[in-house]
Amino acid sequence: MELTTRCLKGSQPGPHLLITGGVHGDEFEPMAAIRRLMRELDPGSIRGQVTFVPVVNEAAYLRGHRTAEDGLDLARICPGRADGSVTERTAAALSQLIRSADYYIDLHTGGSQMSVYPLSGYSLHRDPQVLDVQRRMARAFNLPVIWGTSGLPGRSLSVAADAGIPAIYTEYLGASSCSEEGIEAYVAGCLQVMGELGLTEPVVTKNLVRWEVEVPEEGSGHIQAQNLSPMTGFFNPAVALGDSIATGELIGTVTDLMGDETVEVRSQQTGIVLVLRTFRRVLEGDSLGVVLPTADAAG
Ligand SMILES: [Zn+2]
Repeated sequence: MELTTRCLKGSQPGPHLLITGGVHGDEFEPMAAIRRLMRELDPGSIRGQVTFVPVVNEAAYLRGHRTAEDGLDLARICPGRADGSVTERTAAALSQLIRSADYYIDLHTGGSQMSVYPLSGYSLHRDPQVLDVQRRMARAFNLPVIWGTSGLPGRSLSVAADAGIPAIYTEYLGASSCSEEGIEAYVAGCLQVMGELGLTEPVVTKNLVRWEVEVPEEGSGHIQAQNLSPMTGFFNPAVALGDSIATGELIGTVTDLMGDETVEVRSQQTGIVLVLRTFRRVLEGDSLGVVLPTADAAG
């Protein structure tokens, strides 16, 4: 399988940056932002080259869904298999492309079911030089939250980590939207990282980073593993994205079809609401929200 890519080669030599969107098929701001970057970037202003993939997971995109018809999550099965199912083949092609790059940015959103407070994330790479570049890339992307977590297998970023290629991923809201605000933030973020990495002249911006959190514990990057719904039902959130919340405070309730049975779900962490379910039909075991542990959340 070949991914649909476009490479913008600069007029001078320099590093190779890969920017991908649509690893999940229902995340739209990344796709729109990458198309805008491809249209607006002047190759004459670039040192090196940028490879763009607006929609990595075309099979999932055509279904209007997070995953393709085999139901596998592309962000859990990298590096995939060249002779496997459609998602495994996509993962193999993506992994090969990642290994060809010097730097990697993977753009995401919360998709059709979740919304994520804008963040740049990276793995706490054991090589301090790789980690340092990833921190610089995340800061340059300039979203309010920077989140360093333990590496997780199967991700696009774990392919990059294994190959020693500095990489970040980003999240920007979701809930099936394609907000102009998100597109603009993603275009600006990519341009700022290009400046930071020397592909273009540095871009000067006002610093928008509010929280920088690194959580080295095993599994800390697994954002679907927190505050799970105890039953299948209808979710009524009690908080909004970005709210401060303390351990034991209500995230929301889940009710059955008739509203006769209602269960409360209380936060297991103190921090800010980083991820919140927006699609109200919830299945038992689905995450309702994720809390980012922040030092100043109690204030
Ligand atoms: Zn995603």
